[in-house]
Amino acid sequence: MTERLLRYFREKQQDIQSEKTYDTQCPFCSMQCKMQLVEQTIVTRKKYTAIGIDNPTTQGRLCMKGMNAHQHALNSSRITRPLLKKNGEFMPVSWEEALNHIKDQVTMIQTEHGHNAMAVYGSASITNEEAYLLGKFARVGLQTKYIDYNGRLCMSAAATAANQTFGADRGLTNPLSDIPHTRVIILAGTNIAECQPTIMPYFEKAIENGAYIIAIDPRETATTKIADLHLKIKPGTDAALANGLVKIIIDEQLINEDFIRSRTSGFEELKQHTDALSLNDIAEQTSVPLAHMRKAAVKFAKETSGMLFTARGIEQQTDGTAAVKGFLNMVLITGKIGKPYSGYGAITGQGNGQGAREHGQKADQLPGYRSIENEEHRA
Ligand code: SF4
Repeated sequence: MTERLLRYFREKQQDIQSEKTYDTQCPFCSMQCKMQLVEQTIVTRKKYTAIGIDNPTTQGRLCMKGMNAHQHALNSSRITRPLLKKNGEFMPVSWEEALNHIKDQVTMIQTEHGHNAMAVYGSASITNEEAYLLGKFARVGLQTKYIDYNGRLCMSAAATAANQTFGADRGLTNPLSDIPHTRVIILAGTNIAECQPTIMPYFEKAIENGAYIIAIDPRETATTKIADLHLKIKPGTDAALANGLVKIIIDEQLINEDFIRSRTSGFEELKQHTDALSLNDIAEQTSVPLAHMRKAAVKFAKETSGMLFTARGIEQQTDGTAAVKGFLNMVLITGKIGKPYSGYGAITGQGNGQGAREHGQKADQLPGYRSIENEEHRA
């Protein structure tokens, strides 16, 4: 055997000996795809490969973002130690110095200006445990009333709408496995094909099974391409469109009277509200032709099952809560909830939108769905 071949086999052997695997998950979107990161040391260089791991939600699928997520964590220019600005320049300092500096600054600010001079802003990308601790840190540690998280501009509108409509805020009312079996799907302001790619097989299966897809989006996207009907709405007019769809369903007597009678309240007020609206005005305001609106409303109302999903496109608006409530009214008046293959879902963009608000960093919500306005909950 030549020296060259021997060296090759020695290196190969070394590679195998230095291979390590880490079970982890993609940090990016709400699909939270599970993966195994394989670390191979090739001579002195480390090589990483992400492999999807089977799990009930994504069944081992990974999108490009997940396959490359480790590059963020392992990037050599990532900051891994505290930096403190001294004479206008960031200088590396010890954790002890950094924490003492923070403590001194916070104490000084609160002594001079009161507890509420400090505010805490959290994230939907942190874990349940971190979200819980952040709430405690703000309300109990700093004793400030100012805490919120980036879900405020994200899905808080959907959370509030769900709370006001259902009395509970759950991201999805159905398992994803219901999607392939539903007859009609409305995707309102969500571009799942690009934002949560590994959810797509559920929708592709639904299409294969004959589901009718309605996409509401001002833009043409990879998601609108899979739709049978695309309502190209003028941005920011989603609440008006939802009211228009509800009005058509009521006017054309496509409501589910039994469901409304036994499971809802306030239908007469809703009818009075939509009676006062003009569909021509809504068509003009939203830029969605009346014929398209009618087609969407009738299809959703007439099918035996249907699911409706919203996301930031309609939620990140000043009237985002009203828009989501309008779409939830559509679900309720057609009785498309509380039974298999029918329901509502707010699709989140970040890894832990639901946990972040359930564990205490949302301004109006204490851990475990308790309300900041309820004295007993506060105690
Ligand atoms: S679908 Fe979302 S969680 Fe899954 S790999 Fe892609 S970005 Fe990550």
